[in-house]
Amino acid sequence: MSTRRLKFKAETKRVLDLVIHSLYSHHDIFLRELVSNASDALDRLRFEALTDESLVDEDHEDRIELIPDEEKKTLTVRDTGIGMDGDEMARELGTIASSGSRSFAKLLEENRPEEIPELIGQFGVGFYSAFMVADTVEVFSRRAGTDQGYRWRSQGEDTFTVKEVDDLPVGTSVVLHLKEDREEYLDSYTLRSLVSRYSDYITYPIVLAEPGSDERPVLNSQRPIWTRPEEEVSEEEYNEFYKHLAHMTEEPLDRLTYHGEGVREFHALLFLPRSRQMQMMMPDYKSGVSLYVRKVMIKEEAEELLPRYLRFVRGVVESPDLPLNISRELLQSNATVRVIRKALTRKVLSWLGELRDGRIDDYRILFDQFGDLLKEGVYSDYDHQEELADLLLVHTSGSPDEAVPLKDLAEEMPDDIETLYYVTGSDRRELAASPYLEKAKREGREVLLFDSPADEIMLQSLGEYRDRKLVSLSKESDEDLTEEERERKETAEEAYAGLLEYMKDTLNEQVSDVRFSPRLQDSPCVLIADRNDPGEAMRSILKAMRQDVPDMKKILELNPNHDLIEKLDHLYENDRSSPELEGSVRMLYDLAVIMAGGRPDDPATFGRRVADLL
Ligand code: ADP
Ligand code: MG
Repeated sequence: MSTRRLKFKAETKRVLDLVIHSLYSHHDIFLRELVSNASDALDRLRFEALTDESLVDEDHEDRIELIPDEEKKTLTVRDTGIGMDGDEMARELGTIASSGSRSFAKLLEENRPEEIPELIGQFGVGFYSAFMVADTVEVFSRRAGTDQGYRWRSQGEDTFTVKEVDDLPVGTSVVLHLKEDREEYLDSYTLRSLVSRYSDYITYPIVLAEPGSDERPVLNSQRPIWTRPEEEVSEEEYNEFYKHLAHMTEEPLDRLTYHGEGVREFHALLFLPRSRQMQMMMPDYKSGVSLYVRKVMIKEEAEELLPRYLRFVRGVVESPDLPLNISRELLQSNATVRVIRKALTRKVLSWLGELRDGRIDDYRILFDQFGDLLKEGVYSDYDHQEELADLLLVHTSGSPDEAVPLKDLAEEMPDDIETLYYVTGSDRRELAASPYLEKAKREGREVLLFDSPADEIMLQSLGEYRDRKLVSLSKESDEDLTEEERERKETAEEAYAGLLEYMKDTLNEQVSDVRFSPRLQDSPCVLIADRNDPGEAMRSILKAMRQDVPDMKKILELNPNHDLIEKLDHLYENDRSSPELEGSVRMLYDLAVIMAGGRPDDPATFGRRVADLL
């Protein structure tokens, strides 16, 4: 019988080192991690057995055992779950393959050690926590449906071994050879209290099996936490359940229990995470809600239960009204599932609304992490568009650093103001200082500052909010000029008609038009977008969809009251072919580019012109 000796993948080794050298200040958590894995393995066996009965023997019993052995100084966590074959062991226990730890390993690769302590809290490292209390870990396992068993073994150094072992029962035993100073985990009292503290919600029996004792006490109550009355469950129990479910080690931001009654009955226990796991933002990430039917998990990531944009919500939904053997493919067209989805969506949106109204600081944390997903909702879910727009937080010229609810802003506005001004860009502090805001400042109006790529797409779909038109200040629009402003513009256009023509000719390659604007007060000029310009974010999306999108030239607007224009005109009237005139016009354009957050095409020439001027 051969023994394979394998090396841990480099990043696994680093995680291992971090774990062993005690990143966690309390080692207790190793037990809940191993019990959580055992419970996952039992879930998977139940689930696979739905379609393949031969996987479970007649005398099969779902069970997790804790076996403390005083003599050998070992603690064994044994389960009758799905088990692993040799390759699975090498893969799952030899590399960081678990969902969360993979992103963690990526950060290690990218060498961002300063973020590690925070991240290890976020992702957890599951199985590897065994090495916090054991110097040698052995895993004996046989996968359901196969005959050969295997043993995985490691001392937490560079390597591990995998070898074949005969006569193993189906399931997995994790044998911890406890470190000398960790022998407290042999004590039955300690084990009892750890289980009731961290693992009571596990729906399978956790049995204490002390060698030499005939008693086999069950340490947990086994009741699914989502069916228990809220006042009966402690905050800590809810939090532990969340950590098990979400594979997170930090506490959730908020929790909701919901019992849907009426035509269809269902129980939901939902959580809002404090921070996002990286995969959540990936396109192929599914929902964070698991579906149970009569205590059996039917689907771990049931994307049928909530709209995609709510995929950050984690939790469990259980309905007795669904058939146990429902195929995953049929879930979407199932009437009960559709009813649940509708009720759940409404519930979650109003829950978020309550959080916004009652706990704005927490809501800001949430929005900071998942706001882009809510924006995705605004442009993808017309049925709930208004409610979703109510959930937006925005930065404004009056509050560029702290986001405020868009709803409050609109409610506090005088009724006779029919528009909401906004600007889009990539940095809101830059936006707050941009010349686009001058007109609004003069009018004493707040301007919304949008700086995420999701914003432009959302704004195009939204169009208006609470009967107020959303108006971009960085796009052409004469619609809301006053009579006086219009007049000023026309007078200037007449007075400087020659100069305007000259500038249009000179900047022909760069801009589609040059004209005067009443929106400027202090700055000499500004670049604005054509009203049909889809915006940068939209343009890159269209391009990715292989749509033809012409790069649209901007419009250069001049401030008729600025001294610079007077001077340019003077040059123009004196000698229209002077290189100084052309140089100055080009410099003015470069200036506008810089003020719009861009960089001049030819920074060297621009620099020289400025230097000459000085
Ligand atoms: P996670 O539980 O987040 O996936 P872990 O590090 O806890 O990460 O476990 C890694 C993987 O090892 C699991 O995803 C699973 O495939 C496998 N595994 C661990 N413990 C068991 C077990 N008791 N039975 C079957 N598979 C297991
Ligand atoms: Mg785990």
